[in-house]
Amino acid sequence: MVDPRRHVPRTDVVLADPRLAAATERAGRAAVKSAVVATLQRVRDGALKPDDVVDAALAALPGGLRPVLNATGVVLHTNLGRAALSPAAREAVVAAAGHTDVELDLGTGRRAKRGRTALAALQQAVPAAGDVHVVNNGAAALVLAATALAGGGREIIVSRGEMVEIGDGFRLPDLLESTGARLREVGTTNRTALADYERAIGPSTGFVLKVHPSNFVVRGFTSAVPISALSGLGTPVVADIGSGLLEPDPLLPGEPDAATTLAEGADLVIASGDKLLGGPQAGLLLGSAPLINQLRRHPLARALRVDKLTLAALQATLTGPSTPTWDALRVSPAALRARTAQVLARLTGADISVELVASDAVVGGGGAPEVTLPSWSLSLPSEYAAPLRAAPTPVVGRVDRGRLLLDLRCVPSDADSVLTDMVIAVAAQLRSATGSALPTGPVD
Ligand SMILES: *Cc1c(COP(=O)(O)O)cnc(C)c1O
Repeated sequence: MVDPRRHVPRTDVVLADPRLAAATERAGRAAVKSAVVATLQRVRDGALKPDDVVDAALAALPGGLRPVLNATGVVLHTNLGRAALSPAAREAVVAAAGHTDVELDLGTGRRAKRGRTALAALQQAVPAAGDVHVVNNGAAALVLAATALAGGGREIIVSRGEMVEIGDGFRLPDLLESTGARLREVGTTNRTALADYERAIGPSTGFVLKVHPSNFVVRGFTSAVPISALSGLGTPVVADIGSGLLEPDPLLPGEPDAATTLAEGADLVIASGDKLLGGPQAGLLLGSAPLINQLRRHPLARALRVDKLTLAALQATLTGPSTPTWDALRVSPAALRARTAQVLARLTGADISVELVASDAVVGGGGAPEVTLPSWSLSLPSEYAAPLRAAPTPVVGRVDRGRLLLDLRCVPSDADSVLTDMVIAVAAQLRSATGSALPTGPVD
């Protein structure tokens, strides 16, 4: 038996590794050193191979969200942070990270409206809105509207077909009731009529809520009441459209958008910033000027306000060029195939058994559940999935029928070579672990 302790590298030698030296710049020497010391102890305990010390120490560094390559084919993946920011938005975030004029008019030297340029950009993008406001996320926007317009036990009238769960166990009805508003459910799961709303309206009505069922579809014997009909009921209509599409887009014909919803007569539209808008996490409120003013002046608004980084990213997203979200949604299957074939050629050249297969990508983020985007993927044995997630640049793919699919649709094209390097490194790792050729396995 070889005593693994004889092969424990010295701490200073490990710390001199260029990747750990770079991490020291980011995380500080104390954090990196203690990660290395803890990792070397695992080698002494025989739990880690000496060759893996640097990777393990990097992975053990405290804090820090790690950038990953999203090869899942899910454009807005909630677990991967939904929308990736555009280069313009990233630059804006970095520029705003220090002191910035978020609440100061540099001309007069006086206090100015917080985030006024981002708000102006949002209003310009949706001229139908009398005014706009931005909070932390879509849920915060709902909470603010419910508290300000129906708090203190007033009623929110909502169809039973729109009592949705958004994900991770969060249910809109619970969220709304947590504000002290009462829900007045009308209609049934599949059918709700205008008369149902009419009967429910009374002196204690706060508003009528219309929720876009963004992550499921009800089909068959169904009917719902359009906003245009609800807007004639004489009570405010709040529409939660979910996705943050500002105007209609032919690629996603089933997705409601802010401009059309306002034109149909909604008094207030609520949407997320990090779904189809392709921006930072934020809750967008667009609507009539008096209503927006009422929300902005409510004491709760202060607790839900967005930080300067969000405002910077939002403005750059609204005024800048196309976002990674829309680049990924719009990329042509032919271009994607050609790109994937280039990666395939490098991998095959490295003696890796991999195939190019047709696959389906989706919008994700609880949006457009019925839309599939024809895509192409690299198909690898599923044994690659875990080590690729643990790679120095983690690559997250999707395991489908026993194969790991890597869809380059949401991978920045300048990261193809990094992705390729990661796959080659994992192949070598798997080869040395099995001491033989890789499991190749047929497709299906
Ligand atoms: C996503 C979504 C929400 C929640 O928005 P967050 O920004 O995630 O808080 C609320 N309503 C609908 C219809 C949604 O699709």
